[in-house]
Amino acid sequence: MSKALDWISDLLFPNRCPFCDCFIPWNTVVCESCRSDIVFTDCCPKCGHSECECRYGDLEFDGCISVAEYAGKCREAILSLKHGYGFNAAKFLTPRLSEKLKEQGFAQTGSIITAVPMTYKRKNPTGYNQSEYIAKLLSKSLGLPTDFGLLGKRSSSPAQHELSAAERREAAKQAYFAKKGCKRAEGKTVILCDDIITTGSTLSECARILKSCGAATVYCAVLTETKRGPEGGNENVRA
Ligand SMILES: [Zn+2]
Ligand SMILES: [Zn+2]
Repeated sequence: MSKALDWISDLLFPNRCPFCDCFIPWNTVVCESCRSDIVFTDCCPKCGHSECECRYGDLEFDGCISVAEYAGKCREAILSLKHGYGFNAAKFLTPRLSEKLKEQGFAQTGSIITAVPMTYKRKNPTGYNQSEYIAKLLSKSLGLPTDFGLLGKRSSSPAQHELSAAERREAAKQAYFAKKGCKRAEGKTVILCDDIITTGSTLSECARILKSCGAATVYCAVLTETKRGPEGGNENVRA
């Protein structure tokens, strides 16, 4: 969005810090106190977790970057992003994500950026998918095109946060499918975006589908990571 539009929308919707909800100037995305307070994590570039979870195996993607822990202020910010506001959280975290993708050599000329799809029903009231929003920000900063016509999601799939790790894997298999456009991934490196990684079953299944359509490599780009619960699940996130 252009600066002028940002400015106009700020008159209508005053700008707020996504992490503490205080008012901030229209041309900033986070307040000074939160900026110094948000701790970025360094993840394993294979599984996307700061405490490596590669031992759980079975991940179909070739690499994954996350930049912050899904906890405290970050958790609140991601929840507000899911609900169709809190765009500033993505604007604050995405530049770091973009840098890390470049550092790892995950973003190459010719790569395409896509997002974990949502069903129409589950889309936010504002009609957007937060993962697509992240993908669009990355597209801008990496200078790579987006393509949201590769993957689809069935509307009958259950909410992932109610399931154990094994059930999540099964549910993810039922939930996602290759759209006709999936062939456009053939021979390409695909960067698959989401707001969060938990067990990785959603991302892994989407990567498997992309590869079955001929994608050469699939890297995941997520804003936050969360740890597995004792059952390998997690109480309040998607997957
Ligand atoms: Zn703040
Ligand atoms: Zn790992």
